[in-house]
Parts: sequence; structure tokens; C-alpha cells
Amino acid sequence: MPKQNNLNNHQSSLHRERGTTAYINTTHIRHNLNVFKQLHRGKVIAVVKADAYGHGLTRVVPALSACDAFAVATIEEALELRELAADKKILLLEGVFNRYEMNKAIEQRFDVVVHQDYQIGLLQEVNSPAEIDVWLKIDTGMNRLGFDKNELADKLAELKAIDAVATIRLMSHFASSDLLNSAQTQTQIQCNSWLKSLGHEYSFSNTGAVLNQLAEPDEWARVGVGLFGISPLAAGYWGHTYGLKPAMHLTAKIISSKTITAGALVGYGGNFMAKHDMRIGIVGIGYADGYPWSEHGSSVLLDGLKAPVIGRVSMDMIAIDITNFDHQMTGKQVTIWGGDLPIESVAEDLKLIPYTLSCGITRRVKFYAIQ
Ligand SMILES: *Cc1c(COP(=O)(O)O)cnc(C)c1O
Repeated sequence: MPKQNNLNNHQSSLHRERGTTAYINTTHIRHNLNVFKQLHRGKVIAVVKADAYGHGLTRVVPALSACDAFAVATIEEALELRELAADKKILLLEGVFNRYEMNKAIEQRFDVVVHQDYQIGLLQEVNSPAEIDVWLKIDTGMNRLGFDKNELADKLAELKAIDAVATIRLMSHFASSDLLNSAQTQTQIQCNSWLKSLGHEYSFSNTGAVLNQLAEPDEWARVGVGLFGISPLAAGYWGHTYGLKPAMHLTAKIISSKTITAGALVGYGGNFMAKHDMRIGIVGIGYADGYPWSEHGSSVLLDGLKAPVIGRVSMDMIAIDITNFDHQMTGKQVTIWGGDLPIESVAEDLKLIPYTLSCGITRRVKFYAIQ
């Protein structure tokens, strides 16, 4: 972390800036992958879709060089990733959508998920001597992507008849792996054990499933959010309890502070009323930076202590209660999440999931990679 500047004199005003910054700690990302490699002895696919969950693909990929494969959602993401990881297996989680994408997948050696008949059709049309690894997706009860288990034998036969198809692996996805005791998960596990018996390699688990010890020891686990130090599980099972370290430290600065009297209203809609005289700070981060609009207050961290967010989130600013702090607060940096303020706790306060927070950071925020 850069040293805190004293911005309260004229000279340093030349260097004054809004200062809304995300520090991405690549050492922590490397460490988190190691944690998952300890927890899961099988192969680990690093899921880096959505610009590595908002952390920045370019920064993140070198720190994940020890993974067994990468996975992304779209062809654009896969092409960007290929530039950064020339030799890695790259899996397209939704497969390809058209012939152009199929050709790109062949040219760039992407693995494709197959979950719809039109994708089998695209493979059947391939007449170049290609070697495409296919992940046949089965819907085991989430009712999102995948063939019904009754269709599996037919789909396997169709894929096996295609010359361009090299290895066929099976894939399914948990709907509720973040819960500790889920009947839905138990049903899905039963279906997975049948998939396991079919003589193919397989991939079932995401971060929640690995943390909840649901992963099969020899499967290809697909770990996304956990690489960034985030646990999707409930309070008490956040990232740090597994030894994960936050990859993102999001900070912003107090750009103004003032004293208000009892009865004063703060922010849009006069949504917050001061019960007593108080000091408030205005912090330079809002929903256009990726701090979600909310009426459920969270807190920021100021000098290691929590300062509550009050009133509604604006496009560019939030207000915080700094009554219990020093009066010279303008220019001070606060932690929005990361560092000693778990992103999971902010998500819980806002009644959101941590995924939406990290993925939601916008281009307006400055990014720095730190080690
Ligand atoms: C995004 C995604 C994952 C990764 O999930 P996490 O909860 O971030 O670990 C795994 N599998 C599929 C199919 C996905 O779309």
C-alpha cells in the first residue's frame, strides 16, 4: 500500500486526487490457488470469466500459472486469455454459439462444453482434421444448462461418432454447494456418482463444493471466486477461515467532511436523519464505481475501525458517520472492502453476494497490481 499522503496543506494539493483505487494482490491469488490445490488433490480449473471476476485478466493470469486449465464464459474472453496463456487448456463454459466460434475454438485449441444439440451439429460440420476436447454437460437438478440424464447415452454416442472429437469428459454443476446441508445437493451427488461410473473423466465442483468437501478427489474442480479469496458460504465460513487471502483491496478517499446537527437529513431522499449532532465524511465512491446502490447500510474501514455508511448510495459518493473519529479526516483513505474488511461481510450487509461486488467494479476505478 502506498504511504498515506497528508493532503491538508497547499503544496500537496497539486497531488490531490479522487483516489478510488483497487489494489490487486497477485501474491494472494497465487496463495489462494495453493490453498485449493491442498484442499483438492485432483485437477484445478481456474475460472477467470468476467475479467477474472473484476480483478483484471492480465494481472491475474500470471499468478495462476500453476492451475491445470482455465475456464471462461465467452469466446471473446477465451481469445483474450489465449494471448496470456499460450499453452494452457482453456474451457468455454457455455460452449460455442456458431460456426465462427467453432472455427476459433479449433484454431485456438479451446475445449468446448456441449449442452445443446446445435453444438453437436457444429461439431458434426467440422471437416478439418481437428482434435477437440469436449465436456458433455448434464443437468443434475439445477435446471440451467445441460442435457437430461436420460439423453446422456444418445449424446455420448453422437459425440463418439464425430472424428473431430478427441476426449469426452462429463460435467455437471451444483446449485446449492454454498449451503452446509442441502437436500438438493444430495440428489445431485447421487446423479454425479452415476456419471462417475461411465468411464470418463469428470468435473462437478465449484468453489462452494470444494470448500464444503463435496468434490470428488479425482475430478477437475472448477474454482472461480475462491481464487480471489472469497468464500460463497455463509458467515462463519468466509474466505479467511480457510486461509484464503483477499485479492482485491478496494479503497476510496474522504473528499469532504462536515458537522451536521440533530434532525439533519443526509443524501438523496433524505433517507437518513441525524439523531444527534454528528460528523460525516463524504467518500468518493458510488454506484458508478461499482459500490452498489443500496438502502441497507454497510460500513467502511477507517483507521482500522468500522465507520457506518449512512443514507443512500449516490452515483459518485457515499456518506459515512465519522463522529467517533478525529476531525481532520478529509483526504483520508478508507477501505471499502478487502484488507481487514471481508468482502463477504459487506455483501451480507448489502443483502447481495460477494460475486456481484467484485464483478461490478467499473472502469472508473484505478487498478494497481501489488505483490
Ligand atoms: C462460474 C462457474 C464456476 C465457478 O464458480 P465459483 O463459484 O466462482 O467457483 C464453475 N462452473 C461453472 C459452470 C461456472 O459457470
